Amino acid sequence: METKKYICFATDCYAVVNMAIDPVCKMEVDEASAKWKTEYKGKTYYFCAPGCKTAFEADPEKYLSGGGEPHH
Ligand SMILES: [Zn+2]
Repeated sequence: METKKYICFATDCYAVVNMAIDPVCKMEVDEASAKWKTEYKGKTYYFCAPGCKTAFEADPEKYLSGGGEPHH
């Protein structure tokens, strides 16, 4: 799953590539700088925070089936 987009700060825009979706909270996570990631069934998942990684690892199927509860 890849999306190409730009992120802007004030007057400058930067191309952002390889954005992954945190399966727990559905936030976009930059794969290149993601601090938290895990592998599940041969696929790598990226997370915005350690709490999301922990939640995913506790019950991956819950989040992959789309039944996760969004939170921030
Ligand atoms: Zn998250």
